[in-house]
Amino acid sequence: MTTHAPRAAQGAQSVTLPVTLDEAVAALAALPAAVPVAGGTDLMSSVNAGQLRPAALVGLGRISEIRGWQYQDGHALLGAGLTHARMGRPDFAALIPALAAAARAAGPPQIRNAGTLGGNIASAAPTGDSLPVLAALEAVLIIAGPGGARREIPVSHLLAGMEMLAPGELIGYVRVPLLHAPQVFLKATGRTGPGRATASVALVLDPARRGVRCAVGAIAPMPLRPLEAEQWVAGLIDWDGERGLVPEALTAFGEYVAAACIPDHPPAEDGTAQPLPPAVLHLRRTVAALARRALGRALS
Ligand SMILES: Cc1cc2nc3c(=O)[nH]c(=O)nc-3n(C[C@H](O)[C@H](O)[C@H](O)COP(=O)(O)OP(=O)(O)OC[C@H]3O[C@@H](n4cnc5c(N)ncnc54)[C@H](O)[C@@H]3O)c2cc1C
Repeated sequence: MTTHAPRAAQGAQSVTLPVTLDEAVAALAALPAAVPVAGGTDLMSSVNAGQLRPAALVGLGRISEIRGWQYQDGHALLGAGLTHARMGRPDFAALIPALAAAARAAGPPQIRNAGTLGGNIASAAPTGDSLPVLAALEAVLIIAGPGGARREIPVSHLLAGMEMLAPGELIGYVRVPLLHAPQVFLKATGRTGPGRATASVALVLDPARRGVRCAVGAIAPMPLRPLEAEQWVAGLIDWDGERGLVPEALTAFGEYVAAACIPDHPPAEDGTAQPLPPAVLHLRRTVAALARRALGRALS
């Protein structure tokens, strides 16, 4: 582990560069005011904007154990330090296609080269592209704590604020099931070229459980799961046969998902309908189109 006074840290008194996850946790325990930094794409934006003045930084970039992945009982254990660029490569896409698609869509190349999976999760921005995929995959976080402790938190619990990282804890790994079936991630940005999502949809097929799991990103503080729509459409699919659906069923699924995530306003007290504002209706149509296309691609 090395410690030095950095030029780039802009006000931080020191930067510590541990080489193991447990060293990083120990460094955070020794310096309670220190902030962990992985790729720095989110954190340094806040520092540069004057919103954050960390007293010290613990850099995670030299911890090789969290920069790759390993197999574990039908799952992949993904290191939190995996960059978007690494997850976008074909060997990773063959394992977890929707996460690879999200990684390829996460900002311009310089951001994808530096930005990490763990940083995307810890930042928990509504527009985080990996988040709906992890929600649809029902991923579990492996959290590293003092003294070599490890505990598990479902990603959905962290994103919903039901469970939090304690001070000094780090996201070490993300466990996702290997489903060996089509998965899709689609994102609308409202512009051409790279941009933050205005809406996104992740959809995975789970043939072993005869399930369809879908999560909608960017339209709420955390990804939304339209559970009834998932169950309805899973019941329409011939899992032992062709697995195709007629276009009307794909359209109905898209509308079901969109209405679940962006519901109608309740009628006024006098019974008159309260229409959604045009911008919200537009967003609902976007979600419906993404969900319809995602299911169509997964089943094609
Ligand atoms: C121009 C630009 C465009 C972008 N476009 C997109 C986009 O299209 N899609 C998208 O999803 N994101 C986008 N981002 C956001 C950003 O790149 C991602 O969220 C990225 O994955 C963050 O990872 P990082 O390693 O850079 O995190 P950092 O900036 O290093 O850290 C972010 C936060 O996470 C904490 N943290 C980091 N690693 C851990 C860990 N292992 N355990 C606990 N806490 C940790 C840090 O303390 C910090 O609070 C964009 C950012 C920029 C600047």
